[in-house]
Amino acid sequence: MNKLITVVAVALLSASAQAQDASHIHNTVATEVESGTASDGQPMATDSAVSVPDYTGGKVDADTAACADKMGVARTIELDTTGGGAFGEQYPHQAQPLLQPGEVILTFDDGPHPTHTREILDALAAECTKATFFYVGRMMKNFPEMTKAVQAEGHTVGTHTYSHRNLGATSQAGGQQQIESAINVAQEILPGGVAPFFRFPYLSDPKRMRDYLAKRNIAVFGIDVDSYDWRVRNADKVIRNVLAGLERKKGGILLFHDIHSETAKSIPRLLTELKARGYKVVHVVPKSRIETVAVAEPVAATSHGTTHRKRKYKKKPKSIFDW
Ligand SMILES: [Zn+2]
Repeated sequence: MNKLITVVAVALLSASAQAQDASHIHNTVATEVESGTASDGQPMATDSAVSVPDYTGGKVDADTAACADKMGVARTIELDTTGGGAFGEQYPHQAQPLLQPGEVILTFDDGPHPTHTREILDALAAECTKATFFYVGRMMKNFPEMTKAVQAEGHTVGTHTYSHRNLGATSQAGGQQQIESAINVAQEILPGGVAPFFRFPYLSDPKRMRDYLAKRNIAVFGIDVDSYDWRVRNADKVIRNVLAGLERKKGGILLFHDIHSETAKSIPRLLTELKARGYKVVHVVPKSRIETVAVAEPVAATSHGTTHRKRKYKKKPKSIFDW
């Protein structure tokens, strides 16, 4: 597991101190391509030679002045997914931690959503910060323009199965079809290509599927802090859950869902709270493009009816937005 993580400090938009820690990732080869701030403590202008790959739309905040007091992106990790890799508290034996204490990765699952994703993108843009979105194949098919917008605004797009299936309760062939179909849909929609990043629905991650993803050179993203936005559907509680989780974990991968209105409502205030507490946002981008595998799309797949080992829903979801 000799993974190469190249740290490309692309958007050093906040305090200068954070840049000092940019490449201290243990047990790995980390190359600091560019790091630091100008001697006057102002964020450095972004060097186009060190731009992120076009998975993210190739867009880095150009207007550093407007972003000077914002959350920004402390550093960007260019992740080599050769052989897979798995990150988050579910995977404590990972070869190297992705994050340092005080660092967070913002992640949003289950979308895109025609209005709430837009609200979240605006909130992220207002703080000049970047996130990773794990998208469902049929949602991307329903909302291709919003899918494109996420990438065009510089965020990373990974996948989350075609129809939000619990892969712990799906056959191997069916699971692979779910994974590959979502990737193929995303590849068709996204000009920059989809990232080889995957999150299991319900975090239900059988080893056989993790092995398959590793063979496909796709990294698995678990979580460290759950906002429980899917359950509480209340902006105040979403914020409280995240801050309480961070008190315990001191950083990590944060989980939200961009299909809920209260989540969208929570993000502006949450970013303010994170900034006030000194947390730094890290943006993860892939080092390599994904290779696609031809597969038929699941036909009329239902996302429900499978039991989940961790999350139980009291009532039956009513729409495609209620996973
Ligand atoms: Zn999900």
